[in-house]
Amino acid sequence: MTHRVNPSVTRYTLWKNQRRRWVQWALAPIVILVIALGWKYPYLGYTVPVVMILGMIGGIFRGRYVCGNLCPRGGFFDRIMPLASRVQAIPVILRNRVFRWLVFAALMGVMVWRASLDPANPEHWGRVFWLMCVVTTLIGVVLAFFFHPRTWCTFCPIGTVQAAVGGHRGQLRLNAATCRTCHLCEKVCPMNLPILTHQATGVVNEPDCLRCSECVLACPVQSLTWPE
Ligand code: SF4
Ligand code: SF4
Repeated sequence: MTHRVNPSVTRYTLWKNQRRRWVQWALAPIVILVIALGWKYPYLGYTVPVVMILGMIGGIFRGRYVCGNLCPRGGFFDRIMPLASRVQAIPVILRNRVFRWLVFAALMGVMVWRASLDPANPEHWGRVFWLMCVVTTLIGVVLAFFFHPRTWCTFCPIGTVQAAVGGHRGQLRLNAATCRTCHLCEKVCPMNLPILTHQATGVVNEPDCLRCSECVLACPVQSLTWPE
């Protein structure tokens, strides 16, 4: 999503955000390549567990940073899907914790069951990963079209794990004294998070925050900051 950037934010934050966008543009084609060629080259499916492991390790230290900055599908949803999305609010039910863990259990269960049909064959495992990638990306694209580019990420199983293990770390700070309640930050948030509901505490306690800094850049009065 393109939006006006507050020119007074630090050069470092601007550079980091710019770098994130370039990385996402570089990663997004991986999703298309894996889906298009994985049926012929099943080992491409191993991209899925690589991202899963990276996400889980990263999640321990920085919550959903990997989702927001290093996940190829996240890059695909952030950079390419806005071209076709209606950009509506993400349905609240999809944020429900029980629903999310049910999705996690269902997808992991299907993956283990499919893999167990030929457990000694690494090519078969690659095909299972590829199929999971195709099915979940298709769901994500349909949801992105009708709702919001990152709708899938609201209940992606790996995102759910990252939010649970490290979503509470280093959360964004909101200075209510300077905030103009203009909602610009919420408008640019790729996860559609209710940032202003945290005005009273000053800590944006949203474990699903991707640490993308889009809101920090959009805020006209620099009311949003990261803790030291
Ligand atoms: S709250 Fe800010 S940093 Fe977190 S996902 Fe939304 S825009 Fe990105
Ligand atoms: S963009 Fe800044 S001023 Fe506007 S509502 Fe968000 S925190 Fe407040």
